[in-house]
Amino acid sequence: MSRICVIGVGYVGLVTGACLADLGNRVVCQDVDQDKVGRLKQGLLPIYEPGLEEIVRRNSAAGRLCFTTSYDEGLQGARFVYISVGTPSGVEGEADLTYVHQAAKAIAERLTQSLIVVNKSTVPIGTGDLVADLVREHQTSDIPVAVVSNPEFLREGSAVRDFMNPDRVVLGSTDRSAAQEVAELYAPLQAKVMITDLRTAEMIKYASNAFLATKISFINEVANICEAVGANVLEVAEGMGTDRRIGPHFLSAGLGWGGSCFPKDVKALAHIAAMHGCHPQLLRAVVEINDDQRKRVIIRLREHLGTLRGKIVGVLGLSFKPNTDDMRDAPSVQVIHFLQNEGAQVKVYDPVAVENARKVLREVSYCDNPYVVAEGADALILATEWNEFKQLDMQRIAHSMRQPVLLDARNIYDPGSMKALGFAYFGIGTGCGGAE
Ligand code: NAD
Repeated sequence: MSRICVIGVGYVGLVTGACLADLGNRVVCQDVDQDKVGRLKQGLLPIYEPGLEEIVRRNSAAGRLCFTTSYDEGLQGARFVYISVGTPSGVEGEADLTYVHQAAKAIAERLTQSLIVVNKSTVPIGTGDLVADLVREHQTSDIPVAVVSNPEFLREGSAVRDFMNPDRVVLGSTDRSAAQEVAELYAPLQAKVMITDLRTAEMIKYASNAFLATKISFINEVANICEAVGANVLEVAEGMGTDRRIGPHFLSAGLGWGGSCFPKDVKALAHIAAMHGCHPQLLRAVVEINDDQRKRVIIRLREHLGTLRGKIVGVLGLSFKPNTDDMRDAPSVQVIHFLQNEGAQVKVYDPVAVENARKVLREVSYCDNPYVVAEGADALILATEWNEFKQLDMQRIAHSMRQPVLLDARNIYDPGSMKALGFAYFGIGTGCGGAE
C-alpha cells in the first residue's frame, strides 16, 4: 500500500486516483475547483465515464480514496504525487503550462518528506526537467525529489478499462530507481512497462497522439478522393486495415478528430517542432485536413438544399465522441456555428453531453430525444455515433422531417436502406451522393 496524492481531478486525475485506490493504495485527490471537490465528497461524479462511479463509491467507502481542495491535506505523508492538471492550448498552439507550474510550486512549498513527482499531464518535451527545477527553486528544505514522466493513454469513454488494461506503461526519468518504484504501483496490472529518459517519455505521448490524428486525417483525405472518383471508403478502409502493417483502428472516415487531446497535442507538437528549427509540414497538413473536413458537411448541405438561411437543421450527437460528456473541441460545435452563420436554425440532442454543451452552444434548441430533433427539419446531421442512434426508427424520422435529408457524418447507416426509406442520404466517402 502506497500513499498517493493526485493533483488535478479531471478526466485523467479522477480515473487515475480511483483506479490506484482500487489497486489497494491510499489516495487523496486534490483539486482547486471547490465545486468539483464538493460534489465528489458527496459521491457525485463531475464527469460521465462508464464504470467510474462504482469504483469511486467502493474505494471512498473503504477509506482508500478521498477528495480535498487542500494541498496540505493531499500531500501529507504522500510518497507519490501525481500531477494531472490541464495543459490547454495557448494562443500559438503551444501547451499552456500555468497549472503544471502551480502544482510544482505547491508541492515544493510543502515538502516535508522525500517524494516522487509523477507527471501524468501531457506536457512539452523538457517539462519534466522544468518541474524538477521549479521544485528545487521553491523548496525551503533540501529534501530530495525525483520526477518521473508517466504519460496517460486512456481514452474517454473507456477510461477505466484502459487504465486497468494498458497496452504499455511508459515511465521516463533520469532517476531509474524512482521510475522502478512507480512501476511497482502498476505491477498488479501485469502490463508491459517501458522505462526511458524523461524527454523520450514525454515525446512518446505527443508522437502517439499525433500519429493517431494523422491516421484519421489520412482516411478522411482518402474519403474525399473516394467521393471524387466514385469509390467507397468503408471498403477501402477495410481493405487497408486487414493489412497487419496498417491495422484496422483509426481508419473511420467522418467529421474528423476533436476532443481535449488530439487538437491541442498535434498543435503543441507542431509548435515545439517549429521552435526547435524543424518544419512540421505533415503535422500542419493533418490539422488543415481536419479543419476542412468539418466544412465539407456544410458544403454538401448547401449543394443539396441551396441556401441554408431559414432552414431547420437537426444535429444528433454533440460530444466529441460517444460515451463521454466531453465537449472540448467537439466537431459538432464548429459545424453548428457554421450552420448558424449561414442562417440555419439548429435543433440538437445528445444522450449525456447537454450540460456541457450549454456552455458552448447557445441559440440552439435542445430536444429531449432524436425524434423531436427530426420533426420539421430540412436536414439531419449525425455528428456523434452514439449507439442509441443506430437503433432509431428511421422511417418515423423520415416521415416527420420537412425534407428527409440525412447527412451521416459517421457512416453508421446503411445507404441502401436509408434511400429505400426516402432519405436523400449522404455518407462520408461512400460514394452515396443523395437520392437515386
Ligand atoms: P481536466 O480539465 O478534465 O482536469 C484538470 C483538472 O486540474 C481540473 O479539475 C482543474 O480544476 C485541475 N487543476 C488545474 N490547476 C490546478 C492546480 N494548480 N491544482 C490542483 N488542481 C488543478 O483535464 P484532463 O482531461 O483530465 O487532462 C489532464 C491532462 O491529462 C492534460 O494534460 C491532458 O492532455 C492529459 N490527458 C488527457 C486525456 C483525456 O482523455 N482527457 C488522456 C490522456 C492525457
